[in-house]
Amino acid sequence: MTSSPLLLYVHIPYCVHKCHYCDFNSHVRAEPDWEHYQHALLRELAYWAAEPQFSGRKISSIFFGGGTPSLAPPSLISSVIKQTSNLFEVDQAVEISLEANPGTVDASYFEGFKAAGINRLSMGVQSLNNDELKWLERIHDRDQVFEAFTHARASGFDNINLDLMYGLPDQTVDGWMDTLHEAIRLDPEHLSCYQLTVEPYTKLATNVDAVADRLPDEDLALKFLKLTRTHLADAGYAAYEISNFAKFGFHCCHNDGYWRYHDYIGIGAGASGKWDLPDAGVKRYSNIRQPEKYIEAATQNSLAINSDEILKCKKAAAEAFWLGLRRNNGINLAVFSERFGEDVNTLFGDVIDPWVQRECLEVNHQHLRLTDTGLALADAIAEEAIAL
Ligand code: SF4
Repeated sequence: MTSSPLLLYVHIPYCVHKCHYCDFNSHVRAEPDWEHYQHALLRELAYWAAEPQFSGRKISSIFFGGGTPSLAPPSLISSVIKQTSNLFEVDQAVEISLEANPGTVDASYFEGFKAAGINRLSMGVQSLNNDELKWLERIHDRDQVFEAFTHARASGFDNINLDLMYGLPDQTVDGWMDTLHEAIRLDPEHLSCYQLTVEPYTKLATNVDAVADRLPDEDLALKFLKLTRTHLADAGYAAYEISNFAKFGFHCCHNDGYWRYHDYIGIGAGASGKWDLPDAGVKRYSNIRQPEKYIEAATQNSLAINSDEILKCKKAAAEAFWLGLRRNNGINLAVFSERFGEDVNTLFGDVIDPWVQRECLEVNHQHLRLTDTGLALADAIAEEAIAL
């Protein structure tokens, strides 16, 4: 049995409004059925706890993502955390994160989440410019961000992430820097800064012609990314992944676990899970996405899988390669060899060598990692490895 850390992801699929750029599994319901959703989550959790690949393993992090988890009653969050402690061994230093949207939380909710056991908040801020927030169709404005942040601190949260987005239509470098600097002045422990991408099947994708020439080209996007990294480094936030920055000791263990290719259980509508197989491949599954159908399946069968698949060793290794490249330290060569039974160069040397020559990748005796020149190329490099 593997002794690597085990992560638990809990999906809360409800939102007040569906933002037009969003491709997450989120659904607008006037009155979410919290009671039955909670019941379904607990059934599913009990099922996975009894599975041999997870039994006896220690949970290192729990992450409530969405959708909008901060819409959920704190009693639901508390019941999932309690049930996890009843069913699994939980690391004493467990990180328990919850995504919160400014505009959906008041002081009493933050206090409730804190009392439930949440020790890390991730706030979906996206911008501190009201025109940009309006374009994104977010339900909050900038004042609500400051208010929510103040409530969170007053409720005792000392580990807060702010999610921000750059590369919005017509956004200038100065405009993005205004948001970034205001966010830094709030003094959060962590910042995630992602470029807006037009995801297929979103409302934005169907109307993309209206904004296509207002979005940044590749050069401007790279400028946003590099300036972000420089300004955050100057402000004391180290990049530990392409888009994620933290003060010392505050990186997100849960997300870092994904990038390290650790096993995870996912419960809730549309959640997915993954575990390593003895032959170095992996098995993974995805749940039914629609909340009502998820509730029905999980309540009746303690399970709500929509699809599953087995990846053979080489495909799993390519996936681990892709995820690992995102980390600032890149891929640990010894860990990779031990995990897949082959050295990363034996498997992907044909991809790696040309990128090393172009100075987009660098290798030392411990790690394979992106250089500054290769920063925006992680996906392009990984696609070549996946295609091998
Ligand atoms: S709040 Fe977040 S999850 Fe909900 S629709 Fe908007 S972007 Fe998607």
